[in-house]
Formats: sequence, structure tokens, C-alpha cells
Amino acid sequence: MTRTLHRFSGGLHLDTHKHESRDVPSMLVPLPGQIILPLKQHIGLAARPLVNPGERVLKGQIIAEPEGYVSVPVHATTSGVVRDIGDYHIPHPFGIREPCIVIDADGLDELFPIEAVTDYAALTPQALQEIIRDRGIAGLGGAGFPAHVKLKEGVDNAVDTLIINGVECEPYITCDDRLIREKAMYVVSGARMIRHAVNAKHCVIAVEEDMPEAHDALAGHITAHDDIELVRVPTRYPAGGEKQLIQVLTGKEVPSGGFSINIGIIVHNVATAAAVYRAVTRGEPLISRYVTVTGEVKTPRNLQVLLGTPVSDCLKLCGYEDSNDTRIIVGGPMMGTQVRDCNIPVTKTTNCIIVRRKIPPIQELPCIRCGRCADVCPVNLLPQQLYLYAKADRFDETRQHHLFDCIECGCCSCVCPSHIPLVQYYRYAKFEIALEEQRRQGATRAEQRFLNRKRRLQQRQEVKQKQKAGSTTTATESGDTDADRKAFVRAAVARTRSRKERGTDR
Ligand code: SF4
Ligand code: SF4
Repeated sequence: MTRTLHRFSGGLHLDTHKHESRDVPSMLVPLPGQIILPLKQHIGLAARPLVNPGERVLKGQIIAEPEGYVSVPVHATTSGVVRDIGDYHIPHPFGIREPCIVIDADGLDELFPIEAVTDYAALTPQALQEIIRDRGIAGLGGAGFPAHVKLKEGVDNAVDTLIINGVECEPYITCDDRLIREKAMYVVSGARMIRHAVNAKHCVIAVEEDMPEAHDALAGHITAHDDIELVRVPTRYPAGGEKQLIQVLTGKEVPSGGFSINIGIIVHNVATAAAVYRAVTRGEPLISRYVTVTGEVKTPRNLQVLLGTPVSDCLKLCGYEDSNDTRIIVGGPMMGTQVRDCNIPVTKTTNCIIVRRKIPPIQELPCIRCGRCADVCPVNLLPQQLYLYAKADRFDETRQHHLFDCIECGCCSCVCPSHIPLVQYYRYAKFEIALEEQRRQGATRAEQRFLNRKRRLQQRQEVKQKQKAGSTTTATESGDTDADRKAFVRAAVARTRSRKERGTDR
């Protein structure tokens, strides 16, 4: 039976520019001299380092452990010596630095012993989730949500449909297309494992209409026994967004501020499914990924890159010559981030590196309230209103206008006749709100520490008082007080006197 497809509101038809990189086989990037591994490559809390500078580590070894539930470990991506643990630039819209572990590669690529599972179906869903967490798997589709969290939510909330997302809707990016063509078996096997881990009733793998080779590669590995639906969705940006894809495939809408699990659906990217397959059947942690390198380079193509490899190494391999006329974008042209420093590392969420010609800055003009931005918004927001509040630092109002439902797709910026970089305003507002939240949590933590200390001192005082009171009670019970002792002596003296008076002794 053919699935009925639905439409999401807004969106754009864009020039895809995919042919430039998708038909060339992927290439392994040689081992870099140095690896920079951010402790936070996912949504949630950063991992906590387990190693010290000067320590030798092996490929696949856990070098930072998860801090809390929404966190995953970080693994060394090659063997070498830890050079430093400190703040380094990472791919980020505001060019910030974050804690990283830097490893000087020794060139031996010596493996840490790893354990594989022969029969995943014999494992409980919980055991499978633990393996997936311990192998450091976070969503490879862009958001970087720790995979085990989605899986646990799935088990706790009865999943009706598991969607494996191969809809790579942003122009230029072809890493998922290439991965499917080269490793379709991994994707299909990973889908089976994730389905087992969440007990999903239905499983759908979705690709775009303009990915025929990927579609056929997947079809070649899905058996009748699998009961997996393979669906092609129309090419329209941002059809690969989680909420948009759910709407296209099921006609259901994820509620504002809610999660897909609230409507019985979970979504994982095709690359995440492939990583799950490798983690379970080979014990391999997530230490590499496919990255598209495209735009103004000699040979646009996809690379298989060890995490922590500098972006500059990837660019060099594709024939990029450093120039003042170009700018580097990490991510796609719509949702990516322009970076100044090419020594930033490839992380779990780096799907694409694009080199583009610099364009003269375009004057930002006042909003004319034409409403075009609202027409193309796939989330039905009011982008112009959000922009006005963000610009005026009225962050409470941005929240009331559902800022956090914005998926930063860039459709609104793309059509704005006043050339307002709307998404940049939304990112700024989200960043400021997150900072404020951190400050608030920091203040709450400091207050909590103060209260804990006060409570500890009080408890100590109470224990001392009790001990003091306790020693008096014990003495009284044993009849060993001063008064008792005096009475005992008086009685003894009286007995002696009486014996003397009777003229007897013992
Ligand atoms: S598209 Fe630009 S000018 Fe038009 S309403 Fe939106 S923000 Fe204003
Ligand atoms: S960036 Fe946000 S506000 Fe703009 S169109 Fe996309 S979802 Fe809507």
C-alpha cells in the first residue's frame, strides 16, 4: 500500500547544487597530526575529562565520561598523547571557545579493545540503549541529540512509528546521500536495531525524490520480513526538518514546545542508524562521520573524517586554496555558520563545509511589514514580530512568540526584501536567553551550596550537642555520678566504723 503524503505550510523550492558532490565516491581523510575533541558535541551537558595531559590514549578509548543523563562520552579518535585540556574555538555562530581535549596523534592508530554483540535481538531494549549511549552516539543529522535519550523516551512512551530520516533537504549537502549509496546495509540494519530498542510498531525510511540511487540502494537491503516502508518525499526545503517530515509522512503536527514522542513518533537520521549498526555489531564508538566539502574547491566531494580533524585538512584535501575572496561555512547555506578560523575541528554535527565567494555587505533596511517571511515560515511563526522583539532585547516577548519553535531554517531571511538577517537575530536571542538561564542556574547553585553548608554546620552542631547530652545520660544510668560516688564512700566509712565499734574485722 502506498502511503498518502501531506504538505507542511511555507517552505521554499531552492536550487539544490547537489550534483557537484554527490556522484563522486567518498574518500578517507588521512590521519591528522593533531585532534581537537570538544567535550560537548551534542545537545545537553558537556562530558567530564577522564585523562590528563601527558597521558597516552588509544583509538576508541573513552576520554571523557557523560555528565548527567542528557550527555554522551567522548572517545579518542586515534592513538596518541593528550597534549592539553583547555578552551579552543569550535564551530559556533558567535565564534566562542569551549573546553576540548587535544591529542597529538602518534601515527600508530592503535585500537582500544572493543566488545561487539553477536545477536542484538537477544538483548533487552534497555541493554541496547546502554550500548548506544556508551558508544557516544548523538544524532548526526544536525541537532546532535543524544540517541539513547530518544530511545529511552520511546520505550517509556510506546512508539507507534519510527522514522529514519534520509531527507537531506538543504542545498549543497550530500553526505547522507553518499552514505546511503555506500553503506545502505548499515542504515537498514541500524533501523532494525533502533526499532528493536524502542519496540516501534511501524518503521519508515524516508529519502527525497531526487535521491534515486540512494532509494534503490536501500530497497536492495530491505526484505519482506523487515516490514519497513521506504518512502520518497517531494523535494522542498525544509522537508528534512523533523517536524516537517513527520507532517509529510503522517499528517500529524508536533505540538508547540513538545516532542515528536508526544504523538508516538521518534525520528533518527540515516547516519545515526548506520552508527548504531557499527556500535552494536562491531563495538565501534562514534569516532568518524561523512562530511560534504563543496562550493569553491577544486574537487567537491564527500569525505570520511575522524572527529577532531581540523576543517583546514578537509579543505586542503579537496583542493581549496586559501584566499581573501572566499568565506567558509560549516553546515549548509541556509542553516550553517560562517567561521573565521579553519583550525576548528569536525564534530559529530558537522555535515558540510562550503567555500563561497565573499559578497559585498548588503545594507539592512527597515522592516516594511510585507509579511513574506510569515508566508514561508514552515512553523507558522511571525518572523517579523520575533525580529522586532529580539532586536529590542525583549526576550520574554520572543519566548511568548515561540522563539524556541523556530528551527532556524532561514526561509524568512531568504525572502526578506529588506535584507534583514532574521535568523541571526533569533540566534542572538536564543544565545542571550541560554546565557541568562546559565547565570540563573549558577546563582541557584551558589545559593544551594550556601544552604547545604549552613545545613551541614547546623547538623554538626546538633550532633555535638547530642553527644554531650548523650555522655551525661550514660553516666547517670551506670550510677557513676559524683553524688553516687560520695554516697558509696560514705556508706563504706560507716560500715568500717560499725565493724570497729563491734571489734571485728574481715
Ligand atoms: S520579510 Fe522582511 S520586511 Fe517583510 S515583514 Fe518580514 S522582516 Fe519585514
Ligand atoms: S528561521 Fe524560524 S522564523 Fe524563519 S522561517 Fe524558519 S522557522 Fe520560521
